[in-house]
Amino acid sequence: MATTTLPEAPSATKAQPQPTKYVYFFGGGKADGNGKMKDELGGKGAGLAEMTNATLPVPPGFTIQTEACREYMRHGGVSQEVDRQMEDALSKLETLQGQELGKGSNPLLVSVRSGAKFSMPGMMDTILNLGLNDESVEALAKRTSNPRFAYDSYRRLIQMFGNVVLEIPKSAFDEVFDAKKKQKKAKLDTELDAKALKEVIAEYKKVVKKHAKRDFPQNSHDQLVMARDAVFRSWNNDRAKHYRRINNISDDLGTAVNVQAMVFGNLGETSGTGVGFTRNPATGNKEFYGEFLMNAQGEDVVAGIRTPVHISELEKIMPDVYRQLREITTRLEQHYRDMQDFEFTIQDGKLYMLQTRNGKRTGRAAVRVAIQMVEEGLISKEEAIFRVEPNQLYDFLVPRLDEKRAKVEVLATGLPASPGAAVGQIVFTADEAVEKAGHGATKNPVILVRAETTPEDIHGMEVAAGILTSRGGMTSHAAVVTRGMGKCCIVGAGDVGVDERTRQMRVKGQVFKEGDWISLDGTTGRVIKGKLNTVEASPDDPELTKLLGWAEPFRKIGVRANADIPRDAIQARAFGAEGIGLCRTEHMFFAEDRIPHMRAMIMADNEKDRRAALKKLLPMQRSDFAGLFRAMDGLPVTIRLLDPPLHEFLPKREKLMVDIAVLPNATSAQKKALIEQYSEYGAKAAGDLKKLLPELLRRVEELHEFNPMLGHRGCRLGITYPEITEMQAQAIFEAAVAVEKEGIKSHAEVMIPLTATLKEMAHQAAIVRQVADEVFKEKGKKVHYLVGTMIELPRAALLAGEIAKEAEFFSFGTNDLTQTTFGFSRDDVNKVLPTYLAEGILKQDPFAVIDREGVGELVRIGIERGRKTRPGLEVGICGEHGGDPASVEFCHQVGMDYVACSPFRVLTARLAAAQAGAADKLKIEGGRTK
Ligand code: PEP
Ligand code: MG
Repeated sequence: MATTTLPEAPSATKAQPQPTKYVYFFGGGKADGNGKMKDELGGKGAGLAEMTNATLPVPPGFTIQTEACREYMRHGGVSQEVDRQMEDALSKLETLQGQELGKGSNPLLVSVRSGAKFSMPGMMDTILNLGLNDESVEALAKRTSNPRFAYDSYRRLIQMFGNVVLEIPKSAFDEVFDAKKKQKKAKLDTELDAKALKEVIAEYKKVVKKHAKRDFPQNSHDQLVMARDAVFRSWNNDRAKHYRRINNISDDLGTAVNVQAMVFGNLGETSGTGVGFTRNPATGNKEFYGEFLMNAQGEDVVAGIRTPVHISELEKIMPDVYRQLREITTRLEQHYRDMQDFEFTIQDGKLYMLQTRNGKRTGRAAVRVAIQMVEEGLISKEEAIFRVEPNQLYDFLVPRLDEKRAKVEVLATGLPASPGAAVGQIVFTADEAVEKAGHGATKNPVILVRAETTPEDIHGMEVAAGILTSRGGMTSHAAVVTRGMGKCCIVGAGDVGVDERTRQMRVKGQVFKEGDWISLDGTTGRVIKGKLNTVEASPDDPELTKLLGWAEPFRKIGVRANADIPRDAIQARAFGAEGIGLCRTEHMFFAEDRIPHMRAMIMADNEKDRRAALKKLLPMQRSDFAGLFRAMDGLPVTIRLLDPPLHEFLPKREKLMVDIAVLPNATSAQKKALIEQYSEYGAKAAGDLKKLLPELLRRVEELHEFNPMLGHRGCRLGITYPEITEMQAQAIFEAAVAVEKEGIKSHAEVMIPLTATLKEMAHQAAIVRQVADEVFKEKGKKVHYLVGTMIELPRAALLAGEIAKEAEFFSFGTNDLTQTTFGFSRDDVNKVLPTYLAEGILKQDPFAVIDREGVGELVRIGIERGRKTRPGLEVGICGEHGGDPASVEFCHQVGMDYVACSPFRVLTARLAAAQAGAADKLKIEGGRTK
């Protein structure tokens, strides 16, 4: 029989799409997830899964993945599928534990914690002891034979739940608690007995009812759902948003939620809790490092409420637990091949691991740990160079206190939480820190002095020069956060009494008030009275040199420094700068001996007078340039011709108007002061002022512009007053010839600012070249030089192909290019930037991190078109972005020849450029990438 092959009938049960897996279980030696799943499970969840799979003692539980959080953010709630999967996981947990959530004689209690892909310490919310209610608290009291512990746990739950989930201010609970302590004449929290705590619970419930207009939920499942959603919401609280902004973490990631069986460190003297590092996070030394407290819950250690004990003490108290902890954490370090930061709890003598993650560390520690790990064969040299954040190299440059020429009165010694020195005026709250620290040129150094810091203080910590706390350990909030910021910090200075209410710091019988000066040595932990000077660090640390020695062969682009005076140029070379990328010549004119000539030049209303004033400036400029050439000894020195609007050198218009108004009735003291102020303009007696002030005002008004940043500046100055360009070019070439005659090589790159057209470039280049020829002829010696331009205007980037006909190099002035591309005034952007960042309209400050899509695109176009006209055109960057690691990576990617940054960012730029080169190379070879 003939057979025909029929097409396959469509299957009756068409494969259903699998629902998203929202919930990942871990426990009983097996986890659904693993350590690689940080995107889904967050750092904490991935770590718990990995530790469970490695059969480490981890309390079981489950992780609700970040997609659920994103869903919550999108729709204001999660789908039923999330609830269903969560209930399934909870049943599994209950079966594994042989307990029921909040029920029975042995109720299951859980913690509900946030955990994002990137660690955001303390920024989001946590709820402990969930599952307690009026019934289960009695069961817990009975089972542990410790009613005090049970009621204390319950009151903590109501307090945390009330604050985090029901958004009741903490102070409402604190008032009740403090009143009870007062009533019972208790100094410490632990002095309140079970009966008193029961009374506190009753009061707390009233607080909940009053503020939230509902009862504290007795149903444990309701508690769980509400707590989960509150943790999701905490992703978008102000401090978390702020933290993400300063740490460059995307707002879109969302957090996972970890629900985990509670273990108790506060069950009595054989229980405890602690945190630690497998190596010292401040120095990088290979030593077991950490702190713990017996009979305490985790938050007591981290929040710095009690000052914890060094982990080595645990060996004496519980040698077996200590040995097991060492063995487990060593394994974890080997497994993750990085220094671990871990949390543990001991419940009735049994050790549980609660968390492990790669530990945050200082720059010095990062370098040391990376080198040690290469020597131990744990990581390769290529990996080691990525183990240090380029910005962290700043640690090697942090100042130290200058104690030689000062009286050093040590007031107290605390823990050296984050190295360096900080000198400033005391403030007691984060808001005051922001207020007193000010901005920009008017910045005052302040020291934030607190009993302990909390995540709410983050804005004050950011602006403070240094931080001092009287409580807390090396892993307290202040310590961890400042280390990440690279900011000097001393914690746990127990002798310092801080009274935030009366704004006083008491130490050694002395009282210090807001505004008093203190000096901190974050490297030794010493708090010193008064205002010490600081000394700069030296960057020739042997370990740093070793690590850079591994990194630098990967670096493709050069690193130059922005420096205007020989001292800075010498410093920059010591940090490894390979030239000067920007010498802002106007900075030379602000010196005391020059400003009168500069002002005379500006006041001149005819060419003859202007030339006379310029003639006086010429020898000074020549010696400045000679100094730079000598300091750089043959390396390129990029000299930018005069750029700023001239009125910047003159007094302010409003001030002149006031002085003119005051003059007729001025007292003799006022007149004296005015003569002094205007002496640079030739005022010797009061009679001179009468003529001088109106003349000055007239000139200031002539120069006045509504938009000076877009006004008479840059090459427009050199075009309207060619004699300025002539003088500067003459000074440059005479200096170059002079140093070459001394046997030192010069390499001048003369840079024309703010060009927008080929004709502007050609105009200025012609003057420079003609002056060069004249100088060479007169001196009988030629030197090598280039004439190029800054690219600071969108038109210049777009017309780069034209401009490159005349320009022999480009340097992207991304400060102005950002200003002119966005149309943001770089001096006033702070009026809108905070809102833009908070609203997510901008992800980052575009003046700090290059805007790749807009400004970056112009840079890309500029390079491409410029090199099309002039293959091999030298291209660099000299805006602030040249020292920012992400921007340096971009500069590498678009094929620049070098980046230029301030001397103190040279080390950072070198490592960032090397990492960019290594990432490229290793990707090509299929190796490790960033
Ligand atoms: C720039 O605009 O990027 C630049 C380096 O010049 P300045 O900051 O002096 O304007
Ligand atoms: Mg500029």
